Amino acid sequence: MKAHGEADIEAVAFPTVDAAAVAERLADVRRRIDRVAGDRAVRVVAVTKGFGSDAVDAAVAAGITAIGENFAHELEAKAGAGAGGTAVRWHFIGAIQRNKIPGLAPFVSVWHTVDRPAAVDAVARHSPGAAAFVQVNLSGDPTRPGCSWSDAPEMVAAARASGLTMRGLMGVGPAGPPEASREPFEALAALARRLGLPEVSMGMSGDFETAVAAGSTIVRLGTVLFGPRHRADDLRR
Ligand SMILES: *Cc1c(COP(=O)(O)O)cnc(C)c1O
Repeated sequence: MKAHGEADIEAVAFPTVDAAAVAERLADVRRRIDRVAGDRAVRVVAVTKGFGSDAVDAAVAAGITAIGENFAHELEAKAGAGAGGTAVRWHFIGAIQRNKIPGLAPFVSVWHTVDRPAAVDAVARHSPGAAAFVQVNLSGDPTRPGCSWSDAPEMVAAARASGLTMRGLMGVGPAGPPEASREPFEALAALARRLGLPEVSMGMSGDFETAVAAGSTIVRLGTVLFGPRHRADDLRR
């Protein structure tokens, strides 16, 4: 397909994914989650950034339909090509840039990274009523994304007033051992409860068990499902 030429070229650089291995890794992840979650339901978002459409297909084949992407161009290329089929719900977990919202909006079901008034406005305008999370900057490091702890209640109120369907709070654990995430994760879950929000999006490959123990309802997992990414554009740390 000529129209997708650019995406095709990029797809060549993505590592390929072994669907059977993904299914096995997911089964292992679910066992690890269940060990700490008890009978609480915890959803898995499969983060396919840095991988091609075959990773999306593998996740769907293994039973995950929530697919997370950080970069607008990757999400649009994979969603536009129909990766994973019609069951896929795309979760946008990257930094919200206003000029990227119109292109993303037709595809995205859940916005995890609403973190400032301009992001609330842009998402509410192009994706009215969409499900959204407010991202809180757990570390307080001003170079990291997310609103401050003290601004979070106001941001949630603004998002609610804009008509977005506020699902919960989202956070990325600090660098270091998983244990370093425990306190901020517990604080995020407590804040979500205080604000009447049912969900907490926290926990990545390195700290998802800590996150689930602290009350996470949605973990965002890439590496532990698909293996290491080859690209150096992972904005996490
Ligand atoms: C990349 C990323 C993930 C997944 O990271 P892994 O460590 O590979 O599981 C989850 N959430 C966000 C916000 C990310 O940027």
